[in-house]
Amino acid sequence: MVRAVVGANWGDEGKGKITDMLGETSDIIVRFQGGSNAGHTIVNDYGKFALHILPSGVFYNHTTSVIGNGVAFSIPALFNEVKDIVSKGVPMPKILVSDRAQIVMPYHILFDQYEEERLGGKSFGSTKSGIAPFYSDKYSKIGFQVNELFDEEVLKEKVERVCELKNCILEHLYHKPAINPDELLDTLHEYRDMVAPYVCDTAAFLQQAIKEGKNILLEGQLGTLKDPDFGIYPMVTSSSTLASYGAIGAGIPAYEIKDIITVVKAYSSAVGAGEFVSEIFGDEADELRRRGGDGGEYGATTGRPRRMGWFDAVASRYGCKMQGATQVALTVLDVLGYLDTLPVCIGYEIDGKVTRDFPTTTKLSKAKPVYEYLPGWKTDIRGIKKYEELPENCRKYIEFIEKELEVKITMVSNGPGRHDIIYR
Ligand code: GDP
Repeated sequence: MVRAVVGANWGDEGKGKITDMLGETSDIIVRFQGGSNAGHTIVNDYGKFALHILPSGVFYNHTTSVIGNGVAFSIPALFNEVKDIVSKGVPMPKILVSDRAQIVMPYHILFDQYEEERLGGKSFGSTKSGIAPFYSDKYSKIGFQVNELFDEEVLKEKVERVCELKNCILEHLYHKPAINPDELLDTLHEYRDMVAPYVCDTAAFLQQAIKEGKNILLEGQLGTLKDPDFGIYPMVTSSSTLASYGAIGAGIPAYEIKDIITVVKAYSSAVGAGEFVSEIFGDEADELRRRGGDGGEYGATTGRPRRMGWFDAVASRYGCKMQGATQVALTVLDVLGYLDTLPVCIGYEIDGKVTRDFPTTTKLSKAKPVYEYLPGWKTDIRGIKKYEELPENCRKYIEFIEKELEVKITMVSNGPGRHDIIYR
């Protein structure tokens, strides 16, 4: 059976924790999009980890971790992460890398920095991991697939061809030093030797695993609102964050994805620029940021303070719908125990009209939040294992959100740990 864990919001919903939890009953965990630009924070029996490229299932002995063809594959990032977890006592994970995955090149990272510099104040808030230049090259058909590392003739010719183009832009647009093709080729030889033991046809591997009845978990990065088609374009990421894309980014039939576990955060947070209707500021935001997540809401990759806001039912319902959510995991609910009242954004007022439908970005920029206020529960709910034991106002908040989402909330996460979960 194939399941997906994906985000309904702007990312940082706590997908890593849910994936780590569901890893227990999975044979294979697959990354199918994105790269090392965002991170998952995982707290388990080995300690606390920030993963960027490895799937969040690497902590189990029985799982195989797959880097799918849809990923922006940074070879050094993978190896640094493996080194880090192994040095902290985690058994060496079983890793497979798609022979069709494309490689994040050193110049992608540079181009990301140079472009942000060039844009100055109008930048997209990139994490500067090379993701946008990477996907641009993929679709311009000048990217490097992993299999090309193993054909010296193809590799050499392509390095020269690509350097010619890149150097032209480096010189004339960015006024930066040129790439030396020989040095780049040496780097790619290093990459080849690092990755060689793990490369295979992962699509064939996964399709065979499906036939054998294995449990496969697709792990999404970021959330619906960062999807290049359905998110807050252009302040989005460069690969699809939707579960449907899991079929493409992993190389399996779309109809095999049976369960889409959509992670929804009990309040809102976002990193980088872009429309954010229920955003809050000042002391109110500082307090939520300080109390949020596990030790504050700061980016796992960049350490940047996240933007904060109240729960947005309009964005989250849309987030679930576009994912095709079959069930919802509501996370970080424990954080809200300090509030007297909880504002929930139930509508957007645009040009004097209230809507419950999530609009395109041009309209979104005019939207003002319409709030409904729910009473707080004013207690710490960490450690509670049974739904009935949650305070009444807390259950009311969950049930209100469930009604707004129009999808069943089957799991409530009340702490960062693997076992901080309430099943309904
Ligand atoms: P992801 O990218 O969706 O995996 O999200 P992140 O890992 O970047 O952000 C989620 C943060 O919240 C991490 O620091 C998690 O450890 C933490 N977290 C996850 N679930 C919960 C929860 O239910 N309660 C609390 N307090 N923290 C949580």
